Amino acid sequence: MSDALAPGELVLCVNAAPNHVTGEPVPLVAGETYRVLEVMDFACPCGRSDALLDVGVGFAWCQTRFRHLPKPKASVRTRRASKPKELEPAGGGGSEKKDV
Ligand SMILES: [Zn+2]
Repeated sequence: MSDALAPGELVLCVNAAPNHVTGEPVPLVAGETYRVLEVMDFACPCGRSDALLDVGVGFAWCQTRFRHLPKPKASVRTRRASKPKELEPAGGGGSEKKDV
């Protein structure tokens, strides 16, 4: 899979340095996980990023502040697939098969 970010994915804030444009403090917290609401195709003036991420905090932030986290759903799907089906007790009245 590519590591291109898309809305709905999780990112870890790794850099809560002051705003790259204005130098003002930012409301982000390093070590916190955020969900990407929107990826904005915009080159940050710091020159290290070509996208800003809207994570629902403030406006939108330089992509270099975040690390892309793997989707949590992947492990859940794997576990569910390998889980054995429940066995029905033998000799019961279960003559009907259920299609799920
Ligand atoms: Zn920047």
